Amino acid sequence: MSQRRDGAAAMTTQAEPETGREGRRGFTRTLAYWTIGTGTLAATLYHVGKDEIEAFDTEPPQELTLVPDTLHNGHPIVQTPHTEGRERLVVLGSGWGAVSTLKALECDAYDVTVISPDNYFIFTPLLPSVTVGTVEFRSVLEAIRRIIKRTRGSYIEAAAVDIDLERKMVLVKQTGEEMAWVPYDRLVVGVGAQSITHGATGLEFCHKLKTINDARSIRQHIMANFEKAVRPTTPLEEKQRLLTFVVCGGGPTGCEFAAELYDFLTEDLKHYFPKAVQKMVKVVIVQSQDHILNMMDSVISEFAEREFARHHMTVITNSRVQSIGETSLKYSTKHADGSETEHEIPQGFVLWSTGLSLAPFTKLLCDKLPNVQKNQHAITVDEHLRVKGVADGSVYALGDCATVEYPHLLNHITELFDSAHHAGSTEITRAEFHVFIKETAAKYPNAAGHLHSLERDFDVFDTDHNGCISIDEFEHMLEYVDSKLTALPALAQVASQEGVYLGHGLNHLAATYASDEDTRLRAEASPEARRGVEAHAVGPFMYHHRGTLAYLGRAAAADFGDGRAFRGSNLAAKYLWRSVYWSQQVSLRTRLLLAMDWLKELLFGRDISKF
Ligand code: FAD
Ligand code: MG
Repeated sequence: MSQRRDGAAAMTTQAEPETGREGRRGFTRTLAYWTIGTGTLAATLYHVGKDEIEAFDTEPPQELTLVPDTLHNGHPIVQTPHTEGRERLVVLGSGWGAVSTLKALECDAYDVTVISPDNYFIFTPLLPSVTVGTVEFRSVLEAIRRIIKRTRGSYIEAAAVDIDLERKMVLVKQTGEEMAWVPYDRLVVGVGAQSITHGATGLEFCHKLKTINDARSIRQHIMANFEKAVRPTTPLEEKQRLLTFVVCGGGPTGCEFAAELYDFLTEDLKHYFPKAVQKMVKVVIVQSQDHILNMMDSVISEFAEREFARHHMTVITNSRVQSIGETSLKYSTKHADGSETEHEIPQGFVLWSTGLSLAPFTKLLCDKLPNVQKNQHAITVDEHLRVKGVADGSVYALGDCATVEYPHLLNHITELFDSAHHAGSTEITRAEFHVFIKETAAKYPNAAGHLHSLERDFDVFDTDHNGCISIDEFEHMLEYVDSKLTALPALAQVASQEGVYLGHGLNHLAATYASDEDTRLRAEASPEARRGVEAHAVGPFMYHHRGTLAYLGRAAAADFGDGRAFRGSNLAAKYLWRSVYWSQQVSLRTRLLLAMDWLKELLFGRDISKF
């Protein structure tokens, strides 16, 4: 007994330190989990809100004044901050291109001044969601002053209306106020583009979807039409007209707006408006091409058309809108036999979303460089995003207002052909062909993707099947590669990649000039020398297409541009689409606001009040 008791006692005395060790281990484990968890959360918050955290301690911007008693062409000159040893960087615009540049800049690389008529950045891909209240106005906006706080930059609420390339100054104007010249050492033009009219008349009766005010007036118009349509005094025909929503243009913006409208009707309005009124709602998309979303993979166009047909939306293809009246819209349809028919439909709402044309400042800048700037749609920039025709390369343009012109391989045919084949031979062998592809891809990164895709096509280009590529065969091959180097699309991801590239390039130049006296002196020799030095210091811009997304009303599609396409008509696709845009937000604040909006929509539906 006593032995057992002793044994038991011994067991208890041994067990006690065991339990204590277990307890300590448990505590240590919990502490470790908490530390990892909190650390991960803190790292994530720091990562997504890095700029805001960095900006926290920065001093507010300096006050801008005018240069005393000095006029240039009759207007005063603004005295912008000018720190010793730093260049003045003036950025025009507060859109994707401008903001991506500003976010990539080092805090103390330049004295920054931003000029834009809008004192905020708009996250445009979510603008269609704002028109029906899925997302609130402020959740897609970030104040430009918050974005430039980190660099202690200044902001002027105005539009650039003129430029003096000689004196390096831009003339800025705010409606109703005096104009003033803003001097720069480097200028970034990111003024975007404006809607194209395609010769249609009556655009004053249409909505556009480009600014936050456009989204606000669309939201008011939709609700106003519903409220008018339920009035007992409204005649039936008028009700039908009020509830006919027409979208001109079957591109991503038009289709996403139609999809959001469909969601609003089927998820929210159906609970609050009489069924008879709901049945009158018509959504019509008029598209000039033979398919909607024709810039995406055909699999996606067909999927979108099927989805829209399932949602009882009408898609009218091969049709051009001719004119829009206060209550109707005329369009003509082209048939397979070449004949055309004219149609007129009543409408209560029209969205005009049919493509882009030059913004006034872009046109003015192109007109100042008539011998070089011949493109009708955008400012031509070189592969370093420098405006062609500006000798010292101090003016950059990016985003929707610019088009990058890469050097064509065909222009270098002799040099390329000579470098490809063996001395003493007049043709390129199979082995030489592979070396040529590798070397040229490294030299011309913009053409690298297309060149690599040719590696297995030696036999295709060797048309006479003699096992070698002759100069004529080589010419056809270069023509083919050049034809693939098309203009970059007007997308937020293009503008944003260009902005990041430019921001990093500008940082690099500032650091090089500050630390390398030799390079600085070489650059100061002449404008052309500076252009050459800087082209050497910063590599060319390369665009990486990450795919295009489209929301299609409880369905979403993604085109990765390399033949791969994703499409899904379920909630998972919708939330996947949302998560991509959530991750691309420019600030922690908009991320939180968006998450709250989506939660609010899930719990209470969209707001249907008209204000
Ligand atoms: P913008 O973002 O248009 O910015 C131009 C800026 O310049 C504005 O701040 C404007 O106020 C300012 N400005 C204008 N004139 C002057 C002047 N004279 N002086 C100074 N400042 C001036 N792209 C995608 O990749 N994915 C999408 O899902 C997508 N959805 C879109 C949805 C909508 C509704 C819209 C309108 C566009 C969408 N886009 C999308 C396209 C994308 O928004 C544009 O390609 C992108 O905004 C181009 O960026 P940017 O900087 O060139 O011009
Ligand atoms: Mg041959």
